[in-house]
Amino acid sequence: MKAAVCHEFGKPLSVEEVLLEAPQEGEVKVRVKATAICHSDIHCIRGELGGPVPGIPGHETAGYVEEVGKGVTSVRVGDPVLVTTVTSGCGQCYYCKIGLPHLCERHKPRPFHHRTMSGQPLGAMAGPVGGLAEYTVVSEKQLAVIPPDFPMDRASLISCGVLTGYGAVFNRAHVQPLSSVVVMGTGGVGLNAIQAAALAGAKPVIAVDILDSKLEMARTFGATHFVNSKTVADPIKAVKEMTAGRGADYVFITVGSAAAVKQGVFMSAPRGMTVIIGLVPMKEQVCFGSFDLIGGERVLTGCGGGSARLSIDIPRIVDLYQAGQLKLDELITGHYKLKDVNEAIESTEKGQALRNIIMFD
Ligand SMILES: [Zn+2]
Ligand SMILES: [Zn+2]
Repeated sequence: MKAAVCHEFGKPLSVEEVLLEAPQEGEVKVRVKATAICHSDIHCIRGELGGPVPGIPGHETAGYVEEVGKGVTSVRVGDPVLVTTVTSGCGQCYYCKIGLPHLCERHKPRPFHHRTMSGQPLGAMAGPVGGLAEYTVVSEKQLAVIPPDFPMDRASLISCGVLTGYGAVFNRAHVQPLSSVVVMGTGGVGLNAIQAAALAGAKPVIAVDILDSKLEMARTFGATHFVNSKTVADPIKAVKEMTAGRGADYVFITVGSAAAVKQGVFMSAPRGMTVIIGLVPMKEQVCFGSFDLIGGERVLTGCGGGSARLSIDIPRIVDLYQAGQLKLDELITGHYKLKDVNEAIESTEKGQALRNIIMFD
């Protein structure tokens, strides 16, 4: 089987033959059909998030169950599935019992089963998926079954970008109707946070980005107000002017930079919540004075994998798409073959693409 391997940070991926061990207890082998390129993959390939090298990136993945290991009960061979970076949890621990399975206390990193042809172990980069490979072996807890007629390229988008933006709004922030929302960064995840905020009934939904063309796209996803943070003199002031001088009730930061996080918090209203979604490179630190948070009782938090409950959120997202209330088609820029993976990554890096999708035969 073929996979795209990162042998050295910052270098193009090498598409090569690799080996894959059989699924163990609780694991499932998936025949990958589609994997979208996400910015987290690019951060990993550049070495900004650490992570194992050599390794296989790719984590926005959909495919078919090929083989199940011992004790697997939730999926059967042939099922169409999303492979996500979250876990559906053990069902027994404290966090599972209170309905937060993504924080499952018994969840531990699973051994990764890809090897180079010489037997060297390969790691999974940007989530325990290894989606830029013809086959992968993952935990059954990472999977969500989707309807058989659901298009696989659209499905791959759900497993990270869509779930992350949607989940940050509905699961982490619990955005209230008629509350004000800012979304910084209108790439794939940002547009999903925007469409989720619009679905939640937020008003205004303020899109912040540095490109007018991206802000125009945000409009089609439900943004009502726009701030070009490059051309406007003071983006914080601009947001305040759109929110009766208070700032926004919720701010979602999809841009992976410490400066954006800081700016986002200052865009939030007293008692407002700022949610970090974009992965900030590890070498960057966000600094605040305590009074920045004490005075207005502002909340700064993070959201991983959309704080997802796979069994609840995935069917809802699938339903919303099928009912025409949630956009997926518009997120797709191009389809590529695995051999052209570096081209797909390069166009994403240059900001030319929302999502480029690697399609497997
Ligand atoms: Zn992602
Ligand atoms: Zn648990």
